[in-house]
Amino acid sequence: MKNISKVIETLRKTVPEHPYKSRDPFKVLIATVISQRTKDEITYQVAEKLFQKYRDAATLKDATVEEIASLIYPAGFYRAKAEKIKEIAKIIHEKYSGNVPDTLEELLKLPGVGRKTANIVLSRCYGKDAIAVDTHVHRISNRLGWVHTKTPEETEKELMKILPQEYWRDINELLVMFGRMICKPQRPKCDICPIKNYCKYYKEKVGVAGQRDW
Ligand code: SF4
Repeated sequence: MKNISKVIETLRKTVPEHPYKSRDPFKVLIATVISQRTKDEITYQVAEKLFQKYRDAATLKDATVEEIASLIYPAGFYRAKAEKIKEIAKIIHEKYSGNVPDTLEELLKLPGVGRKTANIVLSRCYGKDAIAVDTHVHRISNRLGWVHTKTPEETEKELMKILPQEYWRDINELLVMFGRMICKPQRPKCDICPIKNYCKYYKEKVGVAGQRDW
């Protein structure tokens, strides 16, 4: 799997840094819950609005669901997310003394927290080797031919077998940015892609037919 290292090193040199810089576990956790089925620009904007008023679990647990919902609107499913966010804040305050847990097992017990969200917190905030697989990581890993999977959960398992551990923490932010700019869900920009020579999708769909206008 020499190609995986080449792909990642190439992307590290060409893809800009992820714009959400916070490494605060509580903020990253809540922002990731808000981000589900919501555009990134909206997520960052409403998350900041929420954190300006409520910066931690101790303060957020006392906010009403209506107020949280109004602060995170227009994020998708804002009302349901507001309920989960309040519940998460309450549990973290009462059960974990205000500290977001740092194990997958404990994170998965929180309402609205799945493997992707938990792994983002573990890798980004606690420096743990975890692969956070969202739609970008799932789609691009399959296009490149690294995995042949149907779900993000399967992709995570397969990537754990083939991806050198030194890349686990970075892979999410790297492929998220690459997926937004180049390897988009529809009409990927294969003609300007810096890793097309390592891509199965490119070889099969573009390479045979020659350059096409995607
Ligand atoms: Fe994505 Fe196209 Fe690049 Fe392959 S060649 S990684 S499909 S943009």
